[in-house]
Amino acid sequence: MDDREKNAENKGTPVLEGQTEAAGRDEDKDYEKVCYICRRPESKAGSMVSMPGGIYLCHDCMQRAFDSLNQNGMDLNQIPNMPFMNMNIGDFSNFMNPDMAIPKKQKIKKKTGEKKQYTIRDIPAPHIIKHRLDEYVVGQEQAKKVMAVAVYNHYKRALLSRDGEAQDEITIEKSNILMIGPTGSGKTYLVKTLAKLLDVPLAIADATSLTEAGYIGDDIESVVTKLLAAADNDVEKAERGIIFIDEIDKIAKKQNTNTRDVSGESVQQELLKLLEGSTVEVPVGSNQKNAMTPMATVNTDNILFICGGAFPDLEEIIRERLKGTSSLGFEAALKDQFEEEKNLLSHVTNEDLRKFGMIPEFLGRLPVTVALKRLDKELMKQILTEPKNAILKQYEKLLAYDEVKLVFDEQALDWIAEEALKKDTGARALRAIMEDFMLDIMYEIPKDPNIGSVIITRPYLEKSGGPRIEMRG
Ligand code: ADP
Repeated sequence: MDDREKNAENKGTPVLEGQTEAAGRDEDKDYEKVCYICRRPESKAGSMVSMPGGIYLCHDCMQRAFDSLNQNGMDLNQIPNMPFMNMNIGDFSNFMNPDMAIPKKQKIKKKTGEKKQYTIRDIPAPHIIKHRLDEYVVGQEQAKKVMAVAVYNHYKRALLSRDGEAQDEITIEKSNILMIGPTGSGKTYLVKTLAKLLDVPLAIADATSLTEAGYIGDDIESVVTKLLAAADNDVEKAERGIIFIDEIDKIAKKQNTNTRDVSGESVQQELLKLLEGSTVEVPVGSNQKNAMTPMATVNTDNILFICGGAFPDLEEIIRERLKGTSSLGFEAALKDQFEEEKNLLSHVTNEDLRKFGMIPEFLGRLPVTVALKRLDKELMKQILTEPKNAILKQYEKLLAYDEVKLVFDEQALDWIAEEALKKDTGARALRAIMEDFMLDIMYEIPKDPNIGSVIITRPYLEKSGGPRIEMRG
């Protein structure tokens, strides 16, 4: 046993693995203590009494324990139910067991007065947001522009309400976003990039796992728990984060059903409150509300909600509507045009979405609609080569460590893009295709230190030839 472990044993203090005791204490200073009995954090229950084993009790619970002792003698099991839980003080025997201490992921970060106050200067202007997005996300120009403006307005609104300026006659409404686009067109990627460049926490949730409270599945508030975890359990940070709910089309109202629609329309109904801004009590570090989980109060007013989905049959609904409005005279020519039109999604209206099964109240809380385009061959090629962390650049870097230059000729890039298009999963297919044929290259090339460069050709990819290899010197 080393000194650190001995020390810990003497004091009954748990030492986290790979961490010195001092470092453990140092990290804990940013987190609130939580009462072991009523699970309320310090900010709600007041200062705490420390007990051995890293356990804390609030004054209320301590007082109840003493009151009960005075009335009933020493029988600790007689202590009445504590608020928020049905545990009794008989469990105090666990105090000496350090494993019972609250795990770090369930600790709530303290509110500190010294936090940096954000000002309007900290929010990048829309053209800067768009420019930074351009470095990572290829194409989707309109979507990037709409998102940049919506995000800028959203954080401006958050600042105004923080500074108490929302009380005048003009109240700026929330600009939550609905993203519609085929699978693999960059919806999630766009949101992830946005959160990273704005340096705000992001939670990605799947609408298919959500169900009405009381039914099997995650309840709606679990999305806020996820965001809190992404914000290191810091409530203030979470309150200016982004929640992305993917596969939102899967919670469309079920057609022709007699049973209660617990994972469709009901989920839309329950999301309304969160989207428009409300205060929710969520369990910290767990999906379940139970006696052992501390609770935190999160206000969703300044959380930006982005809902995304592929809405598979929506194009058909839009096409039908557009054809219906142009069935007379020369407009009939337009009718054929809509048959051919590839980017029908950009013509979407709330009426189409309602037909699809989204309820009007839900759509009303997502005032900004963004349509992403289906990726074509040219865009696929650009995704391979242009973004800051393009797949091709990643392979080039890996081989550069072996001092080998990797080159793809133009026809090879065409082949990869064509194969990806066949899979119909958008840009997601690119990596799988690349990994497949790059395996041999990554295995064989480091064998021979004389190789200076490798040129990937179309015949190699079509398996009718090999890559062109050039030797050093
Ligand atoms: P979805 O629209 O289904 O959410 P994703 O955003 O998850 O698709 O895209 C899958 C992957 O494809 C991303 O991780 C990203 O690497 C790549 N990708 C998709 N669209 C683009 C794009 N427009 N620009 C750059 N990369 C993209």
